[in-house]
Amino acid sequence: MDPTEPLAGAMVQPSLFGGAASDAIADGSASAATRDPTAALAALHGACGACRRCGLALGRQQVVVSRGNPAASLMVIGEGPGAQEDASGSPFVGRAGQLLDQMFASVAIDTRQDAYVCNVVKCRPPDNRKPTPEEMAACLPWLLQQIELVQPKVLVLAGATAMEGVLGLKGGITKLRGQWRQWRGLWCLPIFHPSYLLRNPSRERGTPKWLTWQDLQDVRRRLHQLEAGSAQLDAGGASAGAAPATTPAAGRAMDASAD
Ligand code: SF4
Repeated sequence: MDPTEPLAGAMVQPSLFGGAASDAIADGSASAATRDPTAALAALHGACGACRRCGLALGRQQVVVSRGNPAASLMVIGEGPGAQEDASGSPFVGRAGQLLDQMFASVAIDTRQDAYVCNVVKCRPPDNRKPTPEEMAACLPWLLQQIELVQPKVLVLAGATAMEGVLGLKGGITKLRGQWRQWRGLWCLPIFHPSYLLRNPSRERGTPKWLTWQDLQDVRRRLHQLEAGSAQLDAGGASAGAAPATTPAAGRAMDASAD
């Protein structure tokens, strides 16, 4: 099946963000009652399993499509499957995934209930190399369909490759992380990839892990604002007047996740 075709059970336009579905995402008017994302996502999983649009299909054990809640307001997008993900069929299940879960938990976000987690490419690149631009482009229609079906309000882009694959921005994750952007009507926040944080475990103020915790607190604030219908983008991308994102206990949990 071609990923640019609409999936059975989905109120998705074949033009991918070019029709009513994109308008619905842009203004948030789509009603859950008018779509059946569960059936459509199940169809998407099946179709991905048969996909051979790029060479990554040759080396995969299985496609790795998603985990988490398909009705979540938050979508977390990473780079691509590693060895453990390729074996299990689920994204972010290795050490980096565990750290990701712990970091989100420290800001009161349960990635099983509050997030839909996926990758830019659905098949494992050999030797865990970065997917090529051609491979990311080949897989992008699948990601766009996931976004249309899940209809998240916030995208967290974990790492430079996810930022490049979605926003088309190359490099500069150190500079661009923590800066909110709007893309096709969605709020996007690049953050450091948890694999990078595993290699940089210091939690001192100003370190990558500390900065990521600030970013995830901002995600929590943004979600609160959107739930309250009051999100406004200020010039610096910071969220003003938001509900507290964490508790001291949550902060300690983040500290505990630092190792
Ligand atoms: S990486 Fe994406 S485009 Fe390439 S074969 Fe896998 S599912 Fe298809």
